[in-house]
Amino acid sequence: MNPKTRHIIRNYVTGKFRCSEFALTNACIAKCTFCSIWKQQPKVYVDREKALQAVNRLADFGVSHMCFTGGEALLHPNCAEIVAEASRRKIHSAVLIAAPGLLLRKDMTRRLEDAGCDIVSISFDSGDPAVMAESRQIENIMDEMRLAVEEAHRTRIKSMASVLIWNGNYDKLDEVFESARQMGFDLISLNYPTFSESQVYELGGEGITLSRGQLIQSLESAIALKKEGKYKLINSEPSMRNIISYLKDPNTAKYHCRGGRRVFFVDWFFDLYPCMQLAKPIGNLFEVGESDLRMPACNACNMSWYRDMSMFFNGPRSIPVLFEAMLHSSDAL
Ligand code: SF4
Repeated sequence: MNPKTRHIIRNYVTGKFRCSEFALTNACIAKCTFCSIWKQQPKVYVDREKALQAVNRLADFGVSHMCFTGGEALLHPNCAEIVAEASRRKIHSAVLIAAPGLLLRKDMTRRLEDAGCDIVSISFDSGDPAVMAESRQIENIMDEMRLAVEEAHRTRIKSMASVLIWNGNYDKLDEVFESARQMGFDLISLNYPTFSESQVYELGGEGITLSRGQLIQSLESAIALKKEGKYKLINSEPSMRNIISYLKDPNTAKYHCRGGRRVFFVDWFFDLYPCMQLAKPIGNLFEVGESDLRMPACNACNMSWYRDMSMFFNGPRSIPVLFEAMLHSSDAL
């Protein structure tokens, strides 16, 4: 068992396990229709020294899995160094990427491997190159993605297709997953569309104007595909069922969200939030203490990563989720 997996298990068993997303910059190459962060001015890049301190502060709070995001995290000149600091603290890491061409420049994939990065998670909304190029506004994105996935295969880093359910794919997930599989991705993750209240992390837009019924239909198809076992979809079945319950009637969602207690979001100003959804920060990461990280369970939205990770923090009800995670742990860890 590798040291990061041992660290996750130890922290989970002792009740210290937490997860965080950390946005290193609001700069981005893509111009997605369901996100307007790329429009923000001025462009902000986290200070290198403070970012290294932030990783350590989060590690001290028990964070054992971290997603580095942006904007585009790879546009930060010290991204690999910041990931390396996370690895030094035995934090399992994923870097989220919208422009896969960045993995091919400046020996980036090798540098991430040397930094101990575990997963590169690349946005993959469609198997159709024209649709991908249009939705992300990046020419040749599929050609670059193919090369980036091949490059990741030459390293120890796992590649994950990060599929957002949107207007153009909600009724053809099988096709999208199959395209991701054929491209060579090791894993697939599914993101549930949402409109955030956050002024810093603005999510929403014309690309995700799905009805609840369409989203439910899409999640049900994802559950059926997961059961077939053809694709390595990391979202747990109980979590997707929980989101379906939430969409039908929020009061029927059995598992509530632990944003602000067990899962967090840190933005490029080092403000710590319960999640990317809510507008109000808990406080600055360097000023908050353990007593501030006690937000009550929340059931206000269907945001994927926060709801999916929170499934592990629901007492005895988390047992089926833990069981599924243990069965598939070799895929993602
Ligand atoms: S349910 Fe939504 S709004 Fe509430 S903490 Fe979780 S992600 Fe944030």
